[in-house]
Amino acid sequence: MLTTLSLAVPRFSYDQPAARIIFGRATLNEVSAEVERLGARRVLLVATRSAAGPAGSAATSLGERIVLEVDRVRQHVPIEDVRRVADRTRSEDVDAILAVGGGSAIGLAKGVAHEMHVPIVAVPTTYAGSEMTPVFGVTKNGRKLPQRDPAVQPRTVIYDVDLTLGLDTELTAASGLNAVAHCVEALYASDLPAIIEATATAGIQNLLTALPRAVAGSEDVGSREQCLRGAHLAGVSLAGAGMSLHHHLCHVLGGAFALDHARTHAVLLPFVLRAIDSDEPAALDRVRRAIGSDDPADVIRKVVLEIGIPGTLADLGLQARQVDSAAELASRHPVRCPARVDETVIRSILWSAWKGDHLA
Ligand code: NAD
Repeated sequence: MLTTLSLAVPRFSYDQPAARIIFGRATLNEVSAEVERLGARRVLLVATRSAAGPAGSAATSLGERIVLEVDRVRQHVPIEDVRRVADRTRSEDVDAILAVGGGSAIGLAKGVAHEMHVPIVAVPTTYAGSEMTPVFGVTKNGRKLPQRDPAVQPRTVIYDVDLTLGLDTELTAASGLNAVAHCVEALYASDLPAIIEATATAGIQNLLTALPRAVAGSEDVGSREQCLRGAHLAGVSLAGAGMSLHHHLCHVLGGAFALDHARTHAVLLPFVLRAIDSDEPAALDRVRRAIGSDDPADVIRKVVLEIGIPGTLADLGLQARQVDSAAELASRHPVRCPARVDETVIRSILWSAWKGDHLA
């Protein structure tokens, strides 16, 4: 006989992605051995120009196995870029992709891997966390559409703390806050897998402790190591918990108005938290516990200001006349969120973040 359970227990289901992770210093030297381990013979190298140094070292170690190099990487991964690179990949008979750079380089590699079903070796140089997820976002007709495909989850991820030592203050701060957002959004998911709760809690604690120190002294190995560890955990959290209101709004602002991805995360996060807190305060209990404060929005906002990220969406270049259309665009698609979300709520979040009010 079936028993009806009266006590509600949150249900979760979770696929543990399989990836090989290497973390340390001077690990870039291991790229060649890792490509060898995958049995790859014809490799596409995708690297942002900012990562030309490490990408060049990796290319040297791979020698003739690099058959194609792409260094034109644009943020938000336009579909035309994916198609162009996928066509060349096909004609070169590529059997693996090496991506060196931030979330955009890894994102382009993922777009191509989605078309070609070839494995990725990722060497991240920022804290965006994309290397740990099967998620990829491609922008088509002004809309950035996040999709999941296990085939794009990098098969091997090589974290080299040395590559982050020179990361400039602004990128450190912004991509670090992008990673914090992955952890926060995981922690307010109602169907959060147990292992991701632990992961996101550790991730946010590492990041909030180390980010101000990394920003203050960019070459401080200890804080850089802690930030990269936090970014790794944040990527795992994003993969395990998925996306909700905050990431959805960032994707609309990036896809339709070309706002910088990481800075948008940093500016918007406290306002999204404030809106959730005022409608469904219990949803933020895990975030409160993780950061040890009753007011997560205020804590995050103070970190954002302390590490010097522009404070409003207006500062990031969103025009006043674009705020309402962004709200309308964002409310066209349903969002999985523990709090009430409709166009009025979204409009209020975006105007508050545009003006920078409520949390000053
Ligand atoms: P980015 O990759 O766009 O890089 C920003 C700028 O920093 C670029 O000019 C780049 O050349 C430069 N840069 C990168 N590494 C550098 C380094 N070590 N030193 C100096 N300059 C460097 O920025 P990002 O924040 O890493 O990534 C943002 C993108 O990643 C967005 O498109 C976002 O959607 C995507 N993303 C995807 C996921 C996912 O799971 N799919 C997760 C997070 C972010």
